[in-house]
Amino acid sequence: MDSLTLLGIISVLAATGLLIWMRRYYSREISRLQGEVKLFKNANEYQDEAVVVFSTDYKVLSANRAARKLLQLDPFVENTKPPKEIYLQLGHSESIPIYEVIENHRSASKGTIRLEKVKMTIDDAVEYVNIYIDHSKWNVQNSIICVLQDAMRDIREEENFKKLGELDFLTELPGQFKALSDINKMVISAQRESKKIALYVFGINEFESIKTTFGLGYVNSVLRKIAEFFVGQEKENAFAYRIDGDNFLYIVENVTDSEEEALARAKEISKKMSRFLISSNKNLNLTFSIGVALFPDHGRNANKLIDHAYRALSMAQMNKDGNVAIFRTELNQVREEEIILIDEIKAGLQKKEFQVYYQPIINLKTMQVHGAEALVRWNHPRFGMITPEKFIHIAETSGLVVNIGTFVLEEVIFQQKRWDELGFKAIEVSINISARELIHYQLGEKLEQLFIDHKVDPHYFNLDMSESDAVEDPLKTEHEFTLLKKIGVNLSLDHFGVGGSSIEQLQKLPIHVFKIDRLLLNKIDEDKNHQETVRAIVVLAHALGIEVVAEGIEAKEQYTMLQKLGCDYAQGYIFSKPAPAFEFQALLRK
Ligand code: C2E
Ligand code: MG
Repeated sequence: MDSLTLLGIISVLAATGLLIWMRRYYSREISRLQGEVKLFKNANEYQDEAVVVFSTDYKVLSANRAARKLLQLDPFVENTKPPKEIYLQLGHSESIPIYEVIENHRSASKGTIRLEKVKMTIDDAVEYVNIYIDHSKWNVQNSIICVLQDAMRDIREEENFKKLGELDFLTELPGQFKALSDINKMVISAQRESKKIALYVFGINEFESIKTTFGLGYVNSVLRKIAEFFVGQEKENAFAYRIDGDNFLYIVENVTDSEEEALARAKEISKKMSRFLISSNKNLNLTFSIGVALFPDHGRNANKLIDHAYRALSMAQMNKDGNVAIFRTELNQVREEEIILIDEIKAGLQKKEFQVYYQPIINLKTMQVHGAEALVRWNHPRFGMITPEKFIHIAETSGLVVNIGTFVLEEVIFQQKRWDELGFKAIEVSINISARELIHYQLGEKLEQLFIDHKVDPHYFNLDMSESDAVEDPLKTEHEFTLLKKIGVNLSLDHFGVGGSSIEQLQKLPIHVFKIDRLLLNKIDEDKNHQETVRAIVVLAHALGIEVVAEGIEAKEQYTMLQKLGCDYAQGYIFSKPAPAFEFQALLRK
């Protein structure tokens, strides 16, 4: 075999080998690609979206399982027109065949067309779909690929969202929006039937302070409990809503109530609510207020009625004892002034416009300074120095008294430390507290923490609470006073002698001092009756181991008479008016 032949044989063998290898390679590659196409087809077949490919004359070239079901194509025959006409309705226009819709859009735009929440009708079946139509340059076959998605899910989500807007998320009661629309409907039927509608707006007293003190978790559980109560109160003609923060609205329609009857119902609701909360958790001893407005007496539409019930609520919250009020036209004016004042107090506290003044308490035996009373002042930017009588009541009803109280407490603690560092005599300072502060804000715990944080001796602090406040809820007072006493602070009954407490109640309270009210001391040097009363108070106090301070002493005759009557201490302008710390401290020089 010559070399040429050998080369020829080798070439043939090599070519054959190459051919065999190439065949094997390509057949492997083809089967891999076929596998991928199959996988893709399967995936396409079982996906939720309906995928249908139309030719340009709208014959169906391919359709996955979802498309065959949605477009009612079964039995599916490739390259035929769909057996049933498919209509689409865009917005409020008329339904037209799917081909026309696609044609209109194809001629108007390039790229993918998106049509959302389209109503699709095939025979009588109605579906809502999102349609994506592809006729972009990548679509080389020039076919029309349509992907159809179920749009019902989106629509349902939107509806749920709308419903949520009407429902209060926390309590699941209907919210303000629903209340407004319901009231307007009720108004129409009440007008027709000549009936009334009673609206009760309910609020938790000192809600803001409770929120600050106890935190959101506690407040939310209270709100849920209240909602539970109201759900239990719902009847055919009575409905409950949560309209804002701590404010619930309870509406009773088709009533013939007079104002008195509506108020009586409010009191009843309030009582039931207290019982319900206490029975579910004995720590839920909150107080509530209810504002009442009647249709048509206090307003003829939903906004006015709710507005007026709210104003009545603010009035109810101002009443010390009562907790219900009905709307009166004259409430409007008062309310506006109060809102301004509340805002100003808040701003004043932030801007540090509040200050503590000190008034000495004199020992009537030694005539030396025994202690001082801390009295808050508001250095108002426009009105100058304002005394507490002008703002303490509104501070109490709005709950801001707690913020003022905290400021006074901390200020007195700092002052005691400053005096100590400057070498002044250590004295006991009395701080005024209101019943609301004591009962609702766990004052004991707050105080104890402050004393620990600032390393001060609690025995140099005395809390003054008026006798009438203390006996308002004697059991609670006894409980709180006992806790405070344990911490080591002293306790006084302020305005003593006019508050109507009984000896039995007094014996139970761990009181350190009685502060006799100014009214009894006005003409103490002349008035024999008052002299006898004061003598009796002093004897009773000393028998109970309690000391006595006389308040508002303006004349020497008054305090000399008090010395004769055995009174221990006195306080009044004759000794010194309340003064800023730096003026007062001159009296403390040893
Ligand atoms: P209060 O506890 O009876 O305080 C004594 C009030 O009598 C003070 O009025 C004081 O300035 C006034 N006063 C003292 N000596 C005389 C006198 O010789 N003659 C006359 N006519 N008045 C005298 P102020 O400072 O206007 O306080 C009024 C009330 O405001 C206090 O009555 C107390 O109930 C309340 N208050 C003051 N500071 C606070 C506070 O920090 N927190 C709370 N919750 N209430 C406070
Ligand atoms: Mg006082």
